[in-house]
Order: sequence, then C-alpha cells, then structure tokens
Amino acid sequence: VNDNKNKLIEYFQKFPGIGPKQAQRFVYFLMKQNKRYIDDLTKNIESLKQNSFECIECHAFYSIEKQNKNNICNICGSENRDKSQIIIVEKELDVDAIEKTNEYNGTYFVMGGRLPFLSANPTENIKIRELVEKIRRQLDLHNLTEIIFALPATDEGDYEMEYIRKTISQIVGIKEVKISSLARGVSTGLEMEYVDHDTFKNAFSGRK
Ligand SMILES: [Zn+2]
Repeated sequence: VNDNKNKLIEYFQKFPGIGPKQAQRFVYFLMKQNKRYIDDLTKNIESLKQNSFECIECHAFYSIEKQNKNNICNICGSENRDKSQIIIVEKELDVDAIEKTNEYNGTYFVMGGRLPFLSANPTENIKIRELVEKIRRQLDLHNLTEIIFALPATDEGDYEMEYIRKTISQIVGIKEVKISSLARGVSTGLEMEYVDHDTFKNAFSGRK
C-alpha cells in the first residue's frame, strides 16, 4: 500500500510545476475522496488520450473537436491561415495565448518541452527532428518565408533558440527564409502563455 502511495507521488511529481510536497498533498487529497470521485477521475484520465490528437503539422496536442482533417488541427488545416509564417513556441498554452490576441494569422510549431543546458539528447527533450521535417516539406513546396521564435525570454530559452537556429540554418537558405524572434522589452522573462494583446502586438511588430 505504501508503495502504491509512493508510486502516485512519483507520478504527480512529473507534472509541470509540481514539487514533492505538492505531489504528496495530491495523494493525501485523493485518499480522502469517495469512490465515485475516484472512478470519475480515472475514467476521465483514460478517455483523455482517446479524445485528443497530435497535429502532424504543428505537433500541438488538441482535443478531438479541434481536428480539421485527419490529425491536422483547425489552424494548420485552415484555408485562411498564412502557412508561410511559423511561430515556434514551447507549448500549447502559448498558442492559445497568441490566438487570443487576434494579431497573428500564420501557423505555429510546438517544441513540446524545454531544452536543458548541455542536453545529451535534445531529440528527447524537444521536437527538433519533427521541426526539421516540417521545414523541409515546406521548402519543397516553396511555402515558407519566415520562422519566428517565441520561446521563453530566459537563458534556457535563449540556449534552446540558438540550438534550433543552428540546426535549421543548415537546411534553410538565409536569403529565402527570414529567421526572427519576438522583440523583448520590459517584459523580459515573460512566459508566452501570459502574453496579452498589446504586449504581443508590440513584440511581433518589433521582431528582428
Ligand atoms: Zn496544427
């Protein structure tokens, strides 16, 4: 039984932003719930995977109602979006925040994680292989004009941006595709998921 508890603590500790104390709090919380609550929670966790998909273009995870066609999301599958522009973000919440500003009509690519300093195996931390494949596909279609970095404005974010920039510059001709990053002003350190309309608008128009 104790092992069961520790196992769950381990699981919760893997959640983003959750430390060992919070993980323990979650487990004690669950212990106190009635059977109906636990059954309902379990059922929802089980069906979450069936009711979601990973877009084969932007590699974001979405719930199934955001599917435009087979494993392509509403944004990547829309006729009205400018496919020649790609914003590179860390996670789905960043896409949601930028979408909410209504200031961007291009597409996205979700790296799906952070690249730790001196990572021994970057392909396990971020979707660099998938990004290279996507860029290759779009270059073949002559359908790429700009790649815009919108990674966290932190030392780690900069390190990741440089790593990606170095990797993709080997396949992207500097002249045919512009590579830029969002301007950073007073909001240095700001996470994209909290970006508001004016901050994004300024950062986007000031990109270089
Ligand atoms: Zn997509």
